[in-house]
Amino acid sequence: MNGLRSRKLVSVQERLRDQVANALRAALIAGELRPGVTYSASTLAAEYGVSATPVREAMLDLAHEGLVEPVRNKGFRVTELSERDLDEFTEIRALIEIPTVGKVARSATREQLGALRPTAEEIVAAARAGDLVGYLEADRRFHLGLLALAGNSRLAETVGDLRKRSRLHGLAGLAEAGTLVASAREHTELLDLMLAGDAAAAEEHMRRHLAHVRSPRGAREQGAGRRRPARKPGAR
Ligand SMILES: [Zn+2]
Repeated sequence: MNGLRSRKLVSVQERLRDQVANALRAALIAGELRPGVTYSASTLAAEYGVSATPVREAMLDLAHEGLVEPVRNKGFRVTELSERDLDEFTEIRALIEIPTVGKVARSATREQLGALRPTAEEIVAAARAGDLVGYLEADRRFHLGLLALAGNSRLAETVGDLRKRSRLHGLAGLAEAGTLVASAREHTELLDLMLAGDAAAAEEHMRRHLAHVRSPRGAREQGAGRRRPARKPGAR
């Protein structure tokens, strides 16, 4: 029947849309697509070797997440996040992730925690290679995998959403400051503390880790001469 056939076509199209959306999210998070700049769907389509339709659809998904905003007849502008926006996202992550790490340190088995070690090591390898997109992908799996051990899937989903929105701006700063590898090692150190059953130290470690990603010390000073995107009066 026609119904089945068209459903299959839709699913193929949807998969492409999701793939493009994921690639665009990664480029946004890594800062390859820059805040305040407008990108046309056709330009991005050429870049990714796909047609403009899935790019437009993916961009609508990102617009829904607040990452870009449509610009009539031009494409999509990457949303500029204020320092306050970033502080607020980080604060919510801290409220969720810090106590959850303590809870998981008390409840998880050695096997559950051990299963996260390869991912923690992937983060370190990506940091050494200067691969920001690879870093973020593994970092996402690590943090959400750890939170999932608390047994509340909504909690991990919420943090996943906050990560998309905040784009982990600090990461490029960490890379520039040469502290990306140290920040990556915080994941294996965190696992060690949790395996030792030291919930308080694990919580403190997570607190420092989230603060580093938000506002890398040293990266700030070293990057101070860097041009920031100009904020026009009245711009959001
Ligand atoms: Zn992390």
